[in-house]
Amino acid sequence: MTAELRVDLAQLRRNVRAVRAHMSPAETMIVIKDDAYALGVSEVAAAAAEAGARWFGGIDIPSALGAKAAAGSTVRVLAWATAGEDEAARALSAGLELGVGDADYLERVARAAEATGIVAPVHLKADTGLHRNGVRPEEWRAFCERARALEIAGSVRVVGLWTHIAEASDAEDDRARAAFDAAIDGARAAGLEPAVRHLAASAAAWHRPEFRYDLVRIGAFAYGVRSEGGPDVPGIAPVASLVARVVRVEGDAAVVDLGSVDGFPSTAAGRIEVAGPAGRRPLLAVGAFESRVAAWDGAAAGDEVVVFGPGTRGELTPTDVGEAIGTVGEEPQLRIARHVRRVYLP
Ligand SMILES: *Cc1c(COP(=O)(O)O)cnc(C)c1O
Repeated sequence: MTAELRVDLAQLRRNVRAVRAHMSPAETMIVIKDDAYALGVSEVAAAAAEAGARWFGGIDIPSALGAKAAAGSTVRVLAWATAGEDEAARALSAGLELGVGDADYLERVARAAEATGIVAPVHLKADTGLHRNGVRPEEWRAFCERARALEIAGSVRVVGLWTHIAEASDAEDDRARAAFDAAIDGARAAGLEPAVRHLAASAAAWHRPEFRYDLVRIGAFAYGVRSEGGPDVPGIAPVASLVARVVRVEGDAAVVDLGSVDGFPSTAAGRIEVAGPAGRRPLLAVGAFESRVAAWDGAAAGDEVVVFGPGTRGELTPTDVGEAIGTVGEEPQLRIARHVRRVYLP
């Protein structure tokens, strides 16, 4: 197949610079979960570090290790998935910081610290209403006291406190922020002195300065993906373009070699237009391996069709596509299958 996901690393660097400037004096963590939103963690981390990123964060430890290896030893990298003791030990040996949102994991991290002889830098996670992960308010004080005891024993150091918010409504986010402030007070009362407090992702961090604290965790906006239903964000643009080629013309349809097995949602048929050499054309059908686009004058095998991208060739953005099919902004990009070639433009 000839379809490819083009990744414009120069645009990524511009986005990272724009986000960092906007969030300053808060620091910006570039979120690299889901293989850096499907763009490739090593390439993304290296380019973001070149643009000045000092923090990276992701879920699983293997991708966090990949970010650290690519971005250089001086960056700070947080991995927030709960892991086993051996994997936590590997993470500590590589200099990662660990997000800890339950009491059992705190004990495993402390054992990993003793096994490796490395004081474990941890970010304690409070549940402030999302119920996804994190320590509930009624257990928070005891959790912090245990972490403080482990600090005194020399196995962990609480460097951060964090939570995650829904970003569904301002009122809900305000309640979560009040709960986070209470968690910070509780941690201090237990004797902890966390230097890095963080709760906000792209949308809340961009639009609401009071949500920035010391660090913001930015995924979507670094990749140029605006929020669904949200405004364009000045200074940032999509990094990824999904491009397919015409393989043949059949009557009124130009057939391109991109289908649902490649992660192209079949629900997009009849709902979006794609950009061919002569401008936007309706997407007629999405099959398993191929899709049909309303042909243009002179359509021929080899012509490029852009499904989403920054808009420079008249194409929709990833978020436009997500909105057209009723899903969140980053979804069309995240769904692109691993076997679709990633091509990096320097
Ligand atoms: C995905 C994620 C982010 C980044 O969210 P965006 O809206 O893409 O910026 C931040 N924090 C956590 C915990 C996440 O899972």
